[in-house]
Amino acid sequence: MDTKRQAFLKRFSEGSVNKDDFSLLEAVGEYYEKNAKEASHCFSRYELAKSRLVFYKHKVVSSLTDYLTDFETGMAISGTKVIYVKDAEEAVNEISKLIEKDRNIFINRDRLIEEIALASFLSKKNIQFHDSRFSDFPYQVLPYPASSFWQMIAKKLNIDDIQNQPNQLLSLYKSQLLESAFKDAIYVSGADFIVSDPAAVVILENEGIGNLLSAFCKKHVIVAGIDQMIASISELDYFTSLYAAHVQGNLSVWNQTLFFGPKKATEADGPDEMYVILIDNGRTRLLKEEFQRSVFHCIHCGACTALCPVFKHVNSSHGQLSGPLDCVISPIRDGFENSGFMAFACTLCGKCSEICPSRINFQEIILYNRKEAVEKNAFSVFTRQHIKLLKRMMLKQKVLDSPYHRFILKVAFKNRFGKQKEFPDFKKKSFHIIWKGI
Ligand code: SF4
Repeated sequence: MDTKRQAFLKRFSEGSVNKDDFSLLEAVGEYYEKNAKEASHCFSRYELAKSRLVFYKHKVVSSLTDYLTDFETGMAISGTKVIYVKDAEEAVNEISKLIEKDRNIFINRDRLIEEIALASFLSKKNIQFHDSRFSDFPYQVLPYPASSFWQMIAKKLNIDDIQNQPNQLLSLYKSQLLESAFKDAIYVSGADFIVSDPAAVVILENEGIGNLLSAFCKKHVIVAGIDQMIASISELDYFTSLYAAHVQGNLSVWNQTLFFGPKKATEADGPDEMYVILIDNGRTRLLKEEFQRSVFHCIHCGACTALCPVFKHVNSSHGQLSGPLDCVISPIRDGFENSGFMAFACTLCGKCSEICPSRINFQEIILYNRKEAVEKNAFSVFTRQHIKLLKRMMLKQKVLDSPYHRFILKVAFKNRFGKQKEFPDFKKKSFHIIWKGI
């Protein structure tokens, strides 16, 4: 029962020793915080823009089946095949059926591609692929030229001189891609939004490599979550503007591409075949939960995760989502018996709720998840008994007043607080004694 918890704690301690990653994530957090402050100045009525976003999302959630049906019908008319999958395993199996081994395969390791763990699936099957993603957004905008990331890219390009500026590295990488990419490539990427009317897939990106690949590849496979639905294209502007304002502090999205289907006979660019893998992966289960379903309103700007003090320790270089969203979603997706502990991996500092353009109240949901975790016995019998004993002892005045018992308490429950945290010190005189004037 506690294996996942142990794996999480291992990641926590591994992440926290990597000082380079930690300072980079600190810088990313500061960057997002600065942008969040500027975001409010990007709109004449910022609070109204957020209210509209929540309203649009609410509308979609209440009739999601209808919007999904319209999306599928519209995409089918344009020649795109929409494939529904219930989880990550089904998603990678469907993708592997679409991939021909002798083709050049490019995958964009974005959030959804990581969610289904496509890269490790392909590696296990010995299927060669190229990682199309040149850089993650923060690496491009932050003054962090000496990061291990740039060194890795330079090595990939066989460049010894790491003094090359990021822009030069980017052009070099693009030209190298141009040489190899267009030979019957298959491109697999995630979507940022899907639109019901007219049916379309929206992809936002920073360096434009995805655009290039999609324009010239033979087959484009797009992975989308059912939570990314927008009812009408007329509403898209609210989503992309709030997204851009929170990610970069202004309203312009770097590269925003709307895909209505594969290339038509009259068009010069675009893939010959297009597929949308529409993934559920616990999202429907989330929708049934009265308290937690509001995370469906998320537009995945990443601001909450960038500011999360826990994420800075857990995520460094592991590329896994571990921010506030994970605290809420994991227990629902994997069951409280497996991931209930995630509800406790939060300091309740409230930064995420403060910054969220979708007005998601994380503290309230996480507190609710804690209650659920306790009620559903998310911890082992030993852990539960240990906590019960601690509670019983802490409620006894005699124990708190006796130095001997306080010492026993400290020794017995030392490990309950984890390696990074000390058992809290007791005052020599309890409030009870001071009050009595003893
Ligand atoms: S929960 Fe809010 S802040 Fe976090 S990624 Fe989603 S929209 Fe952004």
